Amino acid sequence: MKKPSANVGLLKESIFSEMTMKANQLGAINLSQGFPDFDGPSFIKDYVNEAMEGPYNQYGPPSGAMALRLSLGEMYKKIYGLSYDPNNEITVTNGATEGLFCSFLALLDPGDEVILFEPYYDSYLASIQMVGAKAKPVTLRGPDFGLPIEELEKAFTDKTKLIVLNSPHNPTGKVFSKAELQALSEMIIKHDVFVISDEVYEFLTFDDHKHIPISSLPGMRERTIMISSSGKTFSFTGWKIGWCLASEELTKAIRMVHQFNTFGAAHPLQVAVSKAINKIEDYLVPFRESYQKKREILYEGLKKSELQPFLPEGTFFILCQIPQGKNKTDVEYCFELMESKKVAAIPPSAFYSRSPEEGQKYVRFCFAKKDETLRSAVINLLEAKG
Ligand code: PMP
Ligand code: GLN
Repeated sequence: MKKPSANVGLLKESIFSEMTMKANQLGAINLSQGFPDFDGPSFIKDYVNEAMEGPYNQYGPPSGAMALRLSLGEMYKKIYGLSYDPNNEITVTNGATEGLFCSFLALLDPGDEVILFEPYYDSYLASIQMVGAKAKPVTLRGPDFGLPIEELEKAFTDKTKLIVLNSPHNPTGKVFSKAELQALSEMIIKHDVFVISDEVYEFLTFDDHKHIPISSLPGMRERTIMISSSGKTFSFTGWKIGWCLASEELTKAIRMVHQFNTFGAAHPLQVAVSKAINKIEDYLVPFRESYQKKREILYEGLKKSELQPFLPEGTFFILCQIPQGKNKTDVEYCFELMESKKVAAIPPSAFYSRSPEEGQKYVRFCFAKKDETLRSAVINLLEAKG
């Protein structure tokens, strides 16, 4: 018998749904997989019902419902001053995950090298492996997880085709500063490579931290595929409506892959998301305030526990250091936490391939949860301390 694809044989199973399943089995409070334990606003759900009464129940255009592409074009102009043409520079995908997959396929040939920062969202490595390209991870290290410029410079070779950036960054909560993005973009231009910029947490930043799209920096627009999603912003992660913004040339390549991958995303949901985006400026004010409070509840609680949390600048995750004397890997620690304290978290070594021992030092908690869920989790964690 012949065997399935060797490239597919390289892939690891995604840890996220496994942890959610285990948390449910054990009745643990689930702060593992990144999704809210509450629904987004009911006015957005009403938009879906309305769309299902209208002419939106059949295939839409593969590049995305025009209403959504128009809303996205307006939003990115208003918020960041970025101008993308809805006709040929914006593509709607099934979540950011499909946008990422199509972008990797659109840009890479077998043997190309891709620089990515570890810890990284697991779909990047999988997409790179499926194409038969080679990942070159560069490790971000605590406590500040800043750009390791020298190491990064060494990672470039004449085979480097692209670099993957994720800011705000899952799982560290780091928001890359303007100076860091500038340094990075100079390297990108010097080495003549592309960037896939995963910005799904673009509206989840705290205190004075501001998200800056790398495509807004000089010389970067033509080299960047900017990817985002409605999942985190509107608290409907199960809808899987995402998008890619890129130059006309790159968009053509993305759309080529997308039409034969999924063809299109759920039509009524796209129409609903377009209406939600038209109201985004008012929506974001209470949204950010509620997440600032959630971060506070979990961070203050974790500070009192045996774990040492890093205060996230963005995203809805808190990364914590496991006490050194524990002699436990992140996986062992997470399973112990789930059994004895009934709180589920993510072991971040799943986000590393070059230096997994670095990931073994940490645990990741998600605070996209009701305030009472977070308070109960803190009570459990502190009760278990002694
Ligand atoms: N990128 C990052 C960094 C993520 O954390 C996630 C998952 N939440 C995604 C992409 C996937 O987004 P989507 O659910 O829209 O596919
Ligand atoms: N991005 C989410 C996380 O980091 C999970 C998404 C998924 O389950 N694929 O937890």
